Amino acid sequence: MKIILLGPPGAGKGTQAQFIIENLGIPQISTGDMFRAAVASGSSLGSKLKEIMDSGSLVPDEIVIEVVKERISQPDCSGGFLFDGFPRTIPQAEALDQADIVVDLVIEIKVPEAEILRRITGRRVHPGSGRVYHTHYNPPKQEGLDDVTGEPLQHRVDDTEKTVMERLDVYSRQTEPLVAFYKSRSSSRYIEIDGLGEVNQIQKNILDQLS
Ligand code: AMP
Repeated sequence: MKIILLGPPGAGKGTQAQFIIENLGIPQISTGDMFRAAVASGSSLGSKLKEIMDSGSLVPDEIVIEVVKERISQPDCSGGFLFDGFPRTIPQAEALDQADIVVDLVIEIKVPEAEILRRITGRRVHPGSGRVYHTHYNPPKQEGLDDVTGEPLQHRVDDTEKTVMERLDVYSRQTEPLVAFYKSRSSSRYIEIDGLGEVNQIQKNILDQLS
């Protein structure tokens, strides 16, 4: 199954992505995680990406499309995959069409902006695994440390209030048009999930829709 997880930053895509891939046994393709890994590697592409990401704007479509095409050509993607944070623009979605990749399901997670701000500024991530915590809503067992490895958690540079406002603006201008783009298609199923409330309940709602 080929799935797109759509929703504004802070909607809980990373958290729900983990749950979905465990249930379906497909890999998660998070362009954000891939770009953060490129930044951490210190490559010249990485330093260019860092500047763009820290400001809250989007990485150019040509780079994103090339990285994604390379990733989905790997053997572990042959049985399907979950896109988390991709596509983020109409040209990125069109690139999937041009590559004859038919998306089976689009899951949109909906959360109001005020809640997003609260969530993102408290978000902490474990860079190695992508596990996501929140200082208030979903704290780790030991403050600042990953539950599984005990390694330090990170507060992403782009998770500050100023950058979040910019990312929300970018989302409504560049990514939200994908809602109409995919809703109008008969080849993909489109489901909307209320992203407010308990993580477990949201997982259950997604699972009900998947079966
Ligand atoms: P995320 O972790 O998905 O919130 O992504 C973090 C940042 O990486 C975004 O704010 C963008 O700068 C960049 N990024 C991730 N995915 C994409 C994409 N599909 N298109 C353009 N930029 C992206």
